[in-house]
Amino acid sequence: MRVGSVLARFGVDVSIVEAADRLLPNEEPEASETLETSFSSEGIAVHTGEQARQVTSQDGSFVVKLAGGTELLSERLLVTTGRKVNLSGLGLESAGLDSSRPFLQVDDHMRAADAIWAMGDVTGVAMFTHIAIYQSTIIAADILRREIPSAQYHAVPRVTFTDPEIGAVGITEAEAIAAGRDVVVVVKQLTATFRGWMHGSSYGYIKLIFERESGVLVGATVAGPQAGEMLGMLNLAVHAHLGLEALRSMIYAFPTFFGGIGEALGASGRGVTTVIDPTYQGVKLLDQFEADLVAK
Ligand SMILES: Cc1cc2nc3c(=O)[nH]c(=O)nc-3n(C[C@H](O)[C@H](O)[C@H](O)COP(=O)(O)OP(=O)(O)OC[C@H]3O[C@@H](n4cnc5c(N)ncnc54)[C@H](O)[C@@H]3O)c2cc1C
Repeated sequence: MRVGSVLARFGVDVSIVEAADRLLPNEEPEASETLETSFSSEGIAVHTGEQARQVTSQDGSFVVKLAGGTELLSERLLVTTGRKVNLSGLGLESAGLDSSRPFLQVDDHMRAADAIWAMGDVTGVAMFTHIAIYQSTIIAADILRREIPSAQYHAVPRVTFTDPEIGAVGITEAEAIAAGRDVVVVVKQLTATFRGWMHGSSYGYIKLIFERESGVLVGATVAGPQAGEMLGMLNLAVHAHLGLEALRSMIYAFPTFFGGIGEALGASGRGVTTVIDPTYQGVKLLDQFEADLVAK
């Protein structure tokens, strides 16, 4: 996607084919909506929910046939369908490890077996450089027999470096529901924030997932300009188990993109633009949610 959007800005006619029903199936739907709106405005043709079934080469061009029958003719084809860990051929069995598994099983100090540690993509936690770096610090401390906290993955940040960017941390609303967790969801359109309006953004979202019982922030997504940078404070909040109280009572610099987080929570005093997922009955619920927390 990132490469596609760069090429489109160089004037290339770009089509993106995605088998899932949206561009970023593992992230919040609002993230995909933001990208799809932005891509469409730049002339990128987005085919979601369409599987590429067949590719043929014809006079130096490619014809990509989609499951629905559509045929896309292109001069260049970039296939980016994901990566897989391959444990075979490493001789892991000689150390008593199972190479038929999709990932190398490690404990919370990254130990795979006696005197064998593993880190990064091979552990199957999340395929990001920062996960490999984080795990490497745990391994180094373990080798030096230093006492350090075990690995924790409740606040894994994820940034999609498109323009606009998508930044996310912790769990999504769908993951919370699938896990049976009782959450309150706050959604704010970036256009309805001071900075979003000044920037002239016509798309973008801030979405916050709070655990209802404790008020703790357990997940967050920002879709829009500088979303990866905005994610910083939300990353800290999820990591440190901060909640509505901390996020609502802090002072936000005006007019910043991250100030939109305060606006989403009514911290700016305007209190009129907070939107909560309609299934949660609107603003009233945020007030009720806060009242319940105060009452405890
Ligand atoms: C196109 C692309 C863009 C990405 N962008 C980002 C990003 O923006 N941010 C981010 O956080 N992550 C990004 N990632 C993911 C990131 O690159 C990986 O998560 C990260 O490199 C994982 O580190 P690693 O050490 O586990 O594996 P690698 O970095 O893949 O290192 C594994 C090394 O092991 C070597 N190796 C393999 N088999 C053997 C063997 N038998 N003997 C010896 N050596 C061997 C390989 O050659 C390789 O050098 C991106 C990945 C791709 C493909």
